[in-house]
Amino acid sequence: MRSIPAKLVTWDEIADWCSSLGRMIVDSGYRPDAVIGLARGGWVPARLVCDELVTKNLISLKTQHWGVTASRDGKARLVGELQEDLSGRNILIVDDITDTGDSLRLAHDHAKTLSPGGIRTATMLHINHSSFVPDYYASEVDKDKWTWFVFPWNYYEDMSTFIREILAEEPSPEREIASLLRKNHGIIMTEGRLGRTLSRLEILGLVRQIEGKWSVLVEEKEKKRR
Ligand code: AMP
Repeated sequence: MRSIPAKLVTWDEIADWCSSLGRMIVDSGYRPDAVIGLARGGWVPARLVCDELVTKNLISLKTQHWGVTASRDGKARLVGELQEDLSGRNILIVDDITDTGDSLRLAHDHAKTLSPGGIRTATMLHINHSSFVPDYYASEVDKDKWTWFVFPWNYYEDMSTFIREILAEEPSPEREIASLLRKNHGIIMTEGRLGRTLSRLEILGLVRQIEGKWSVLVEEKEKKRR
């Protein structure tokens, strides 16, 4: 079972960070003709930043780096390329967070080959060990306080990873899960929210409850052993 510091990010924090980004970009005088949202984490921030700038031109580009919650799946790579004619246009690439910085660098370098007029990058969060520093970021995270940010659009994906890791050790009642989420990840959840989360994961066939104890389904245990 991994012990990874994590934080449940709220929608209010997302709204604040994106509004700060909007202000910074506007104040800097940069006027993007197109905003590129990096799939998947950058989609919601990019959409909110588009609104901040009153622009409709939102484009998607997919990069892949981190697989299962908080574990990298090899080198960052582009999944597909930009198809739009961006030559001479000012572009802004938006992502949720720069951690290694590899994804944003990759997207930046790819976009540069399309000869844009200007190219700038923005993230809500920037961990200061990142090899790539965005032109705009709303909040800096000290590398010594590295945290896995559970964004609202990744809530079930991340929580199902953490919860199933706990249950892969041994079937547990809800209060034990709550206590291990707090101990291993610093995540504090109300009873109601944890209960609703477990019910959803049960409906999706990821966990099940027998006699008051939750467990991962057998196939999940098998995968772990392999
Ligand atoms: P990276 O290439 O390491 O800068 O990060 C690529 C993507 O992985 C980010 O855009 C996020 O979607 C996700 N990611 C990386 N580190 C974190 C983190 N500490 N918390 C939440 N998501 C992360």
